[in-house]
Amino acid sequence: MLQQMKETKEAPQMLESYDPSNGRKLGEVRVSTAADVKATVARARKAQVGWAAMGVDGRNRILNRLRGVLIDRAMEIGRLVSSENGKPPSEPVALTGPLCETIKLHTGMAKRLEPGVKVSPTFFLGSKARVFYEPLGVAGFVLPWNFPFELGVKHMIPALAAGNAVVQKPSEANPLIGELIVDLFRDAGVPDGVVQMVHGYGETGGALIDEVDVICFVGSPRTGRRVMERAAQTLTPVVLELGGNDAAIVREDADLDYTAQGLVNGTCYNAGQVCNGVERIYAPAHLVEPLAEKIVAIVKELRQGDPSGRGQYDIGPITWAPQLEIYEAHTADALQKGAELRHGGVVDRRNGGLFWLPTVLTGMTHDMLMMQEETFGPFLPIMAVQSDEEAIRLANDSKYGLGASVWTRDEAAGEAMARRIRAGSVMVNNAVQSGGCVTLPFGGEGDSGVGRVQGEQAFYTYVATKSVMTCPKSTDNLWMPYDAGSAALAKGFTKVFSGRRVSERVSGVVDVIRNWPRRR
Ligand code: NAD
Repeated sequence: MLQQMKETKEAPQMLESYDPSNGRKLGEVRVSTAADVKATVARARKAQVGWAAMGVDGRNRILNRLRGVLIDRAMEIGRLVSSENGKPPSEPVALTGPLCETIKLHTGMAKRLEPGVKVSPTFFLGSKARVFYEPLGVAGFVLPWNFPFELGVKHMIPALAAGNAVVQKPSEANPLIGELIVDLFRDAGVPDGVVQMVHGYGETGGALIDEVDVICFVGSPRTGRRVMERAAQTLTPVVLELGGNDAAIVREDADLDYTAQGLVNGTCYNAGQVCNGVERIYAPAHLVEPLAEKIVAIVKELRQGDPSGRGQYDIGPITWAPQLEIYEAHTADALQKGAELRHGGVVDRRNGGLFWLPTVLTGMTHDMLMMQEETFGPFLPIMAVQSDEEAIRLANDSKYGLGASVWTRDEAAGEAMARRIRAGSVMVNNAVQSGGCVTLPFGGEGDSGVGRVQGEQAFYTYVATKSVMTCPKSTDNLWMPYDAGSAALAKGFTKVFSGRRVSERVSGVVDVIRNWPRRR
């Protein structure tokens, strides 16, 4: 399959789609050239005018209809996403819930913000000061292969609710899921041209950046840098959601059975191909052994692949074949530096798919690639620490800062530790799932990204903020021409509005009265 993908890259007119669990071809789409991208965005620009003109109620009606479409077509979504992406069908079906909540959040926000937000006019007495949020125009999305359906829908919702048209370039690994997304929006009644896909590799993504008014990129830090450089040429605003190397800190008092199960879920969900999946584990030295034993017992029971063909399994194949090189390199590096392999560490090539066995390692040290870089697979490397302080120091010793987790019976202590970890999201006694709590912002520090998607913050990515101030005639008091009292009048105003003591404010009133301009 890797060979097939390389060949596709050299002849990019058609983009072929494969089932990663068996290498079977599923379909193909045409690669969009730079001219195609230009035409698609031009079409989106025209469509956006009508979409904006529908008003917030008209748009919200359609977007809320999408909730029904997602529920009605959930099983079909599960089947297609599973076949092109490899994950168990239950996972994409489960993600329709957060998508519906995302729609509720952002349609609600659009409605709330539509009349404008009144703010204090400060010392412009009698003035009206309001903030309006207007669509930017066309929002572009360049997305990865690991959650093509969930991210493909979720990130476009705030942009659409704000009145933008959207154009997405899904990963080259999942063009058919991209087409399914367009169909779901069409089914909900979104007018033609408001939601469109362009397909292809990096060049298509680059061409999209050149054309749109704002770009949301989700992918690796390496590509993220290129995206930011390209967007700088047109001063296009960007939000970047990049990789992670999330630490899990197991405290002395953790419930080991629950923690072992949670860590397996946090590493093996979506076969570990999760930006905020657990990537490295720190545990008190005397707990490493019992924790490793419990984890090995759990992963041995997981079903990998779908021998029954009924979609009932826990871990799918590697979705993107080149990941195998990273898994092998990180495993070899850890073993060569003294780690002990407790389970997995190999690939199973059954039926033309690549199934990486959940890999449990102990004896980890911080110089190992697995502790430093994103592995992006079902890996549970456990490193012994002497104290909570050491665990926090090591968790923060990373160029990434996307997520982290703390496992403890003492919630208050866990929350206190969460505050000290440099990461965009920290969970106590869970991992990964905060990405599904769509009212929370999501994003990272350092190499993990710039800005936040999700939560109310996501809405503001896709709007032009406009301040409107309406003033009565009295606001002319500090206009030109100045006279001898102008400076004292200005100081008087500052004392009246910003003075810290009553006496200071009263003296400000006197200054204002004495120096009020006589010319008008
Ligand atoms: P990638 O960076 O290789 O590709 C992402 C997208 O960028 C693809 O659509 C690709 O075609 C496109 N692209 C490639 N080169 C480009 C260029 N020069 N200009 C414009 N677009 C270009 O990432 P990937 O391998 O698809 O995804 C895996 C990565 O995504 C991991 O690092 C993972 O952690 C990250 N990720 C992050 C989040 C998050 O929310 N933080 C979510 C999911 C995945």
